[in-house]
Amino acid sequence: AAAPVITVDGPSGAGKGTLCKALAESLQWHLLDSGAIYRVLALAALHHHVDIASEEALVPLAAHLDVRFQVSEGQLDVILEGENVSNEIRQETVGNTASRIAAFPRVREALLRRQRAFRAMPGLIADGRDMGTVVFSDAPVKIFLDASSEERAHRRMRQLQEKGFSVNFERLLSEIKERDERDRNRPVAPLIPAADALVLDSTTLTIEDVIAQALAYSKRIL
Ligand code: C5P
Repeated sequence: AAAPVITVDGPSGAGKGTLCKALAESLQWHLLDSGAIYRVLALAALHHHVDIASEEALVPLAAHLDVRFQVSEGQLDVILEGENVSNEIRQETVGNTASRIAAFPRVREALLRRQRAFRAMPGLIADGRDMGTVVFSDAPVKIFLDASSEERAHRRMRQLQEKGFSVNFERLLSEIKERDERDRNRPVAPLIPAADALVLDSTTLTIEDVIAQALAYSKRIL
């Protein structure tokens, strides 16, 4: 039988990353950060001066993307063409570019197999936008983690500040709204909860509450 998967989808800044790391640690399962793949592709396009408006040009780049994930000192490093780009891919410009190129159906298709290859025993925690609806539509456990855009902008601001980036709240909020709008309204793999997903709204929950609820729900099903 195929390895079990817990999918965690939702908009940016809802707390998916923290939740997924906690689930992976608690269950000792593998972890897929699918957003990082889109971000790395965006960065590769920027580095190689590939036109980010051209689906034609992006598809071969996606198909041959030289990306590796590597755990060092408890942290997941993202390596593009041998270079550690873990910090660079977290910049808002890279996230925005990722969201633009993620709207192209053939770009998404080119990244499908790469994402599914993460599925392995004893199980996988899959973090993204379409994990439960497209990539792992047969997953036994699906979670959709939401939060208000204001709360998400606050969290993202604190996160970026901790990493030493200076940010303007209003600009961050409008970028987050713009990115969500694009992710929710694209014709292919839009950001929506799977019909069989547990929807958690983390706006007024602590991350500890979110983790506890998600873990209890998962264990009930698995
Ligand atoms: O989650 P993260 O903010 O790193 O994702 C960056 C962008 O990549 C998202 O805004 C979204 O457009 C795209 N993405 C996607 N499908 C996924 C994961 C990310 O379209 N499964």
